[in-house]
Amino acid sequence: MTFHRMWAELLPIGRSPVSGGYHRFAWTGADTDCRAWFRQQAEERGLAYETDRNGNQWAWLGDPAAGDAVVTGSHLDSVPDGGAFDGPLGVVSAFAALDELRARGVRFARPLGIVNFGDEEGARFGLACVGSRLTAGALTAAQAHRLTDADGVTLPRAMEAAGHDPDALGPDPERLARIGAFVELHVEQGRALDLSGDRVGIASAIWPHGRWRFDFRGEANHAGTTRLDDRRDPMPPYAETVLAARREARLAGAVATFGKIAVEPNGVNAIPSLVRGWLDSRAADQESLDTVVAGIEKAARDHAAAHGVDLDIVRESFSPVVEFDHVLRDELARILGARTGVPVPVLGTGAGHDAGILSGRVPTAMLFVRNPTGVSHSPAEFAAEDDCLAGVAALADVLEGLART
Ligand SMILES: [Zn+2]
Repeated sequence: MTFHRMWAELLPIGRSPVSGGYHRFAWTGADTDCRAWFRQQAEERGLAYETDRNGNQWAWLGDPAAGDAVVTGSHLDSVPDGGAFDGPLGVVSAFAALDELRARGVRFARPLGIVNFGDEEGARFGLACVGSRLTAGALTAAQAHRLTDADGVTLPRAMEAAGHDPDALGPDPERLARIGAFVELHVEQGRALDLSGDRVGIASAIWPHGRWRFDFRGEANHAGTTRLDDRRDPMPPYAETVLAARREARLAGAVATFGKIAVEPNGVNAIPSLVRGWLDSRAADQESLDTVVAGIEKAARDHAAAHGVDLDIVRESFSPVVEFDHVLRDELARILGARTGVPVPVLGTGAGHDAGILSGRVPTAMLFVRNPTGVSHSPAEFAAEDDCLAGVAALADVLEGLART
């Protein structure tokens, strides 16, 4: 079984012997090994291999210059201590689906491409989807040149060190214009399919999401000698805000997380002068997200005022909702529904993807494969092999339905 063999080949690359998690950061040795694996898969299959100006890897069956290509794939890099499936499942499934279609004797009327987008997770340079953003023109070359890792190495120097020429970084509209449809298969990063009892689903949209920084400023003082009534302690209003985030998110069917916090002076016997917390919130639609964040902000202001604490709230980033192409989505639903005789579930997701970046430029769709625990970005991320193979079969059906003569 080709899926099994490919999976076994990738499995040891960049894996921590301690945690079992993956450390495949853009343009590091582990990433280079993954990229060499991709190239080898392309060449073994007699596909035309190329690396584009932004370091994304492509494997082609047929001539992409003919246009209206059907492209599938994902990414091979990981978050720190990431799981095995987020990204690689889409790339391995792409090659396995092609093998399946060749075994079926399918002839293609459209060029078929497999892609590995570079630096999807942003683990090294702090910005996600660098390869697809550059290609789509959503990140300029000048911005990319300024990206720097924790050791002070810039993205161009890191690319160069890994053997890729960074001089040509920039938008690639001709390449995108050749793509008629992009389908990314991905492990589900949630439990919707597990709860519905389905192996495979189709994405409807990527939820709008944003990050906000909350600065609660009080007054540092002695934890032993300062009467409670005399304190301007920013920690209690921060704590109330965390609880409010949970409450507001639950009411709206959204998610809200304070996952990062900085405290000054950060002493066990000192009342803090500053508590800085970062809120990440996501919801199915803009109105719900606005409601959640407004509710959290109001709670933060009320509790800060009650404690004599100053509060600044800054929105640090925001991504609007990404609605995947409805025509392509309906086509996938028709193809997969015809095969199984039962409707395939259509679900939204709170996670970002290269498919989301491309969707503004190219008709784009996503397939999700069941993840029984919903855990992702962790060594515990998992999909059963039977479900992975169901994903390969679904992807093969979709590619056949879209591209065959
Ligand atoms: Zn991913």
